[in-house]
Amino acid sequence: NKGLAEVDPEIAAVLDGELDRQRDTLEMIASENFVPRAVLEAQGSVLTNKYAEGYPGKRYYGGCEQVDVAETLAITRAKALFGAEHANVQPHSGATANAAVLHALINKGDKILGLELAHGGHLTHGMKINFSGKLYEVSAYGVDPQTHLVDMDKVRETALATRPDVIIGGWSAYPRHLDFAAFRSIADEVGAKLWVDMAHFAGLVAADLHPSPVPHADVVSSTVHKTLGGPRSGFILSREAYAKKIDSAVFPGQQGGPLMHVIAAKAVSFKIAGSEEFAERQHRVLRGAKIIAERLVAPDVAAAGVSVLTGGTDVHLVLVDLRASVLDGQQAEDLLHAVGITVNRNAVPFDPRPPRVTSGLRIGTPALASRGFGDAEFTEVADIIATALKDGQATDVDALKARVDRLTADFPLYPQLHQY
Ligand code: PLP
Repeated sequence: NKGLAEVDPEIAAVLDGELDRQRDTLEMIASENFVPRAVLEAQGSVLTNKYAEGYPGKRYYGGCEQVDVAETLAITRAKALFGAEHANVQPHSGATANAAVLHALINKGDKILGLELAHGGHLTHGMKINFSGKLYEVSAYGVDPQTHLVDMDKVRETALATRPDVIIGGWSAYPRHLDFAAFRSIADEVGAKLWVDMAHFAGLVAADLHPSPVPHADVVSSTVHKTLGGPRSGFILSREAYAKKIDSAVFPGQQGGPLMHVIAAKAVSFKIAGSEEFAERQHRVLRGAKIIAERLVAPDVAAAGVSVLTGGTDVHLVLVDLRASVLDGQQAEDLLHAVGITVNRNAVPFDPRPPRVTSGLRIGTPALASRGFGDAEFTEVADIIATALKDGQATDVDALKARVDRLTADFPLYPQLHQY
């Protein structure tokens, strides 16, 4: 009956240190968020003790009456939230969800077409040493060298030339909406299935602030932990025709026992994502990203050589282009880290610098919107970032850190949580 601090002080110290880090810095990694306390409670619960291979009502273990309720709620809520015919809420992560999607839709050696990794695609969309690149024959579409937008005429040309079995829409780093109807028509023209990976923008879709891929795609996969703001995990939506194949691709095709504590936490986050409060938060996410995109190039604060890819954003992230700046992605990331802002460097399309250095930053607003930030705070954050990038090595780190400290103090994170 001993607590964590007594059993394992080293790990307790990690938890304490991480809580401090999250409280005292500005988290702007576009794929991260802060889950509500209710999600933490469901996830850190006795449900972790339960084996429940199978699906609600069809388990291979006894004693599943409570977890059946949790999983059924998660399924029902996911379907209602996104207007989907079928939902599988068992994937442990976005990557395993994506592996299950491809297992369900095609066979080894079949062809897939997705967004180039270096242009904002994801590892699971066909990267060479990922399962997707090893099991399937991969071709890719890129963004236009001038506009940095996905050009649907080019996607169509590539699809006609390569005749994929599955076309993938979705991204990890792209600041605009994709044209899902155009993807559907290209898929129909070449006889491909359409899979959309909405991992990044699912929260915006849930809040009706982003076009939904669900009416267009055969299958939609997602993570729960990015804009959607739930536990680290994945889920899959599909048309009824694919329900059986998806379910058997997840279990037993891909996984063993589902993580019932995480599934319960997913149910909680799907419930929250249907609320007005959630929609209001997503609104702030989008406003914040637009403010940052605008302020970073505003004449009074902008640094020479800093620009924003595509000239702005329609989503929760901004891609900063440093190809013409004296700073590279690594230096810019380090500089912002020093003032207390966490972002990740990111290759820009056609990046002249190596992938470990890069010429870009990916800056996201979901976590700070969850913290309560609105227009005024995002304007201040944008000005801090712009000043840091402008002055480069000459940045007065202490002065900027003091401005970050004021923001973190004004918006306390997890005030109910205590150190171990
Ligand atoms: N799909 C997309 C588009 C992503 O951006 C990510 C995560 O970065 C994933 C899938 C994978 O999610 P996970 O990290 O949970 O495996």
